[in-house]
Amino acid sequence: MQSKSGFYTTTYKIRLYTNHLNYIKNTEAIYNEAILKYYNLLFDNLEFLNLSNQNCLRELEKLTIKSKTGEKPKDYIEQDIPMYLRRAAINQAIGYVRSYQTALNNQMVNDDLNKKISNENKKTKITLNKATAFHSPILLYKGMYKDLYEDSITIKLFDGESWRWFPTKIKTAKNKETKINENVEVLSPSIVVKKELVMLHIPIKEEIEDVTPIKIRMQQENILVCGISFSNTDSFAVCTILDENKNIIKAKFIKGGNEYRNATHTILAKIKKHKQNSQKFTQRDHKHYWEKLNNISDYYAHKVSKEIINFCTDNNTKIISIADMEEDVSKHFGKKVGKYTPIYLRKRITQYLQYKAFKQGILITRVRRNYTASKCYICRGEVKRDGNKYICENGHQGDYFFNSSMNIAVMCLKKFGK
Ligand SMILES: [Zn+2]
Repeated sequence: MQSKSGFYTTTYKIRLYTNHLNYIKNTEAIYNEAILKYYNLLFDNLEFLNLSNQNCLRELEKLTIKSKTGEKPKDYIEQDIPMYLRRAAINQAIGYVRSYQTALNNQMVNDDLNKKISNENKKTKITLNKATAFHSPILLYKGMYKDLYEDSITIKLFDGESWRWFPTKIKTAKNKETKINENVEVLSPSIVVKKELVMLHIPIKEEIEDVTPIKIRMQQENILVCGISFSNTDSFAVCTILDENKNIIKAKFIKGGNEYRNATHTILAKIKKHKQNSQKFTQRDHKHYWEKLNNISDYYAHKVSKEIINFCTDNNTKIISIADMEEDVSKHFGKKVGKYTPIYLRKRITQYLQYKAFKQGILITRVRRNYTASKCYICRGEVKRDGNKYICENGHQGDYFFNSSMNIAVMCLKKFGK
């Protein structure tokens, strides 16, 4: 069976270091003024909405830009703005008007329904207001930025007098992975300003080699499934690959649990000590500790999810099975084992696993967690836990989490009729 390829878009958020925050703010203001002008103009020419976005943009430009012979059109807008920034603004305006119209239409449909139900409901009617100002982040089309590398980008900004190019440093957080390479398509970045903090958001489009749905995938021959059980031991996770006849192909214990526990406990102990010593303890005082905890957690969540994916790709496995953990169970778990423990990281690992897997053409399926730990993989007999070991009623024994991971893989095979 042929696999079907597809695309995946993700946004990298990168810190932008600039000495020209005011220029960025200038440019943002000009950009948003342009959005507002075209937004209002489009309301006067709603028939343009029947056109494609590209043609709609063209018509709006015809109305506002001098012709080649220098003639000013009817709605000429006096503006000093680079073409590509103007075009980004026009497209943004078109988007806003389109969604306004959609909302308006939906409301009219709802109003009709309401009238049918009762005439008394008029008080609850929400009026849709047209926007009077915009605060959109600057969207950089090609022509507004150039030379985008791992650590720098050159952007065009208005310095108060003219438009100039500014080479600007960018930096990714250490534990985040950002790879702008030849295999990805970089979509238009935007500059997001939050007070003094300036971020560059870069959407990246990657091709995914296989987006075949799981149901179809599971019908293929020689299918392999990797079952994953999470644990609170030195192993964050135990991964076992089974073939469709439930034979074990390969297993891996993803270690580092104790290392993570030690690292976080050292910091937690420091926080505790500070709390005891200082009378007025505030979250803000210990912000860097909480940030450190978060960074460590993030580092391990990335590391573990990456190792799981590598294990699967190295063994040609395109399906991962994990046990479903309902919110309340997970909360109970959190209280019982405490925060910043390997099992506490389960949720984040799963989140990262999800998108990393998808990028690699691997799909994740969830199975019910009932009996995944309490039955013996070999004979389905009842299991007793003794530390990290299990012993079943018929005498089979082994690693408790290894047994679970196999059961989780089996549940997946069963779920799809294997
Ligand atoms: Zn057994």
